[in-house]
Amino acid sequence: MTQKTFEQLNLMEFIQNAITDLNFSNPSEIQSEAIPALMKGDDIIAMSPTGSGKTLAFAIPVLQKIDITKNCVQALVLCPTRELTIQAHKEFEKLSKYNEDIKAVSIYGGQSIDKQKNALKRNPQIIIATPGRLMDHLRQKTINISKINMAVLDEADEMLDMGFRDDIHTILEQTDSRRQTVLFSATMEKSIREIAKKFQKSPVIIDVLDNLQSAPDIEQAYIEVSEKDKPELISRLLNLHNLNLALVFCNTKTNVDKLVEVLKMRGIPAEGMHGDMNQSQREKVLAGFRKGVVKVLVATDVAGRGIDVRNIEAVFNYDLPRDSEDYIHRIGRTGRAGKSGMAFSLVTQAQVSTLKKIERLNGLKINKQDRPTVEEIDNARQDNYAKEIKNIISNSDLDDFKLKINSMVDENTSMLDIAAALYKKFMKKEEAKINRQIVFEETSFNYEERDERRRRGRFDRNKSYGKRNSRSEKSGKEFNFVTFNKKSSKRRNKSFS
Ligand code: ADP
Ligand code: MG
Repeated sequence: MTQKTFEQLNLMEFIQNAITDLNFSNPSEIQSEAIPALMKGDDIIAMSPTGSGKTLAFAIPVLQKIDITKNCVQALVLCPTRELTIQAHKEFEKLSKYNEDIKAVSIYGGQSIDKQKNALKRNPQIIIATPGRLMDHLRQKTINISKINMAVLDEADEMLDMGFRDDIHTILEQTDSRRQTVLFSATMEKSIREIAKKFQKSPVIIDVLDNLQSAPDIEQAYIEVSEKDKPELISRLLNLHNLNLALVFCNTKTNVDKLVEVLKMRGIPAEGMHGDMNQSQREKVLAGFRKGVVKVLVATDVAGRGIDVRNIEAVFNYDLPRDSEDYIHRIGRTGRAGKSGMAFSLVTQAQVSTLKKIERLNGLKINKQDRPTVEEIDNARQDNYAKEIKNIISNSDLDDFKLKINSMVDENTSMLDIAAALYKKFMKKEEAKINRQIVFEETSFNYEERDERRRRGRFDRNKSYGKRNSRSEKSGKEFNFVTFNKKSSKRRNKSFS
């Protein structure tokens, strides 16, 4: 397909101006295909990879079709989660910033229903909602969707997987059957076809899913590692690649919580996100991640899916995804908008065959990588430190500091001596961090035992659960340390690399 331009899409002026402000040079493929079809009045089923700009693909036609002389709700967008609802709402606001007559309201669980009722009094033409909370409003008759011209189901397969089938049917049944119905889905599974059959009129199928498979910008690798060494490996990879923003996927809430605790103990700013957290907790975590205060976000699929944060440098599969499509959704969180990204899958020996299946089914190439050694990490740390220092030298005013250093120079002390001493001091601090890591590795070893003791209220804070070996003289930089073997209480040497 030849590359279309936004001009060719005949956008209304207020939208074109907003897009110019957003600095988007060209429409993405899904936008080029879906926008004309929707403007023409077709129903569509669109399949397109994560990060390919689906929100704009439906938001533009929705906005272009709004009749501002009418007060009723004219378009309904359903999203699976609050995060996606909020994100879609933001996108609508950006696109309609030059048209004050257009009002969109988002409706989702966890936010005060009264606040939402107040917002609804402004007579929005567009409602963006999660199915559950929308149902509450429909029951209380605070929203009337009987006159909508367009219904959009964003990530429809996900909504169905989350158990919203009946709600979606109930909701669509309350609308005018002449409406246009738009389905975005990663799959064409049976439940999607059922909705299409019941609620759509000869839908046009738009499938641009193949594009991600050739995504050259995401470097994918897998690393073999035992279950209990996974946190250590994550820490090492973060260090090795000097990652500033990473997203880690776990399959369970327990793993999310455990990993966050380990990373925090190691001085890595990490936060978790999963279905049990309330609205404000999730928003706070996400805001921190956006700002970069939280460097590592650990999430389950449902919470992490669709999160649109720019500049995520790497995605980790702490646990392998349960199905091969989730793999695509997960790694699609990085390498967005033309940037490159990395995807690491942590697999136990037994899981290698599952990974190979994911690779085959998605037509991908996932390369095997060795676990980074302590030496590699040390070298990387040194490189990063050197880069940081050079950066400070070229980007800041050091005159005052230079005066101070100059005053320290005498016949016995050269500038090189001073620099070396400063470096030594810095490295000591770094070493303290490593030592903290080792200490934790041991406590994590007895995690369950400790939890059990806590439960029984007999946790003895002064008791040491394993002792750190002083760094072995001979092995120098090796991570040699001693842990208690839980079962036999025997001391054994443990070395990760
Ligand atoms: P999807 O729903 O397909 O996962 P989104 O709609 O969330 O993707 O868009 C992903 C990102 O790409 C967003 O940050 C969005 O602002 C940006 N984006 C959308 N359209 C374009 C475009 N035409 N050019 C550049 N960036 C775009
Ligand atoms: Mg989306």
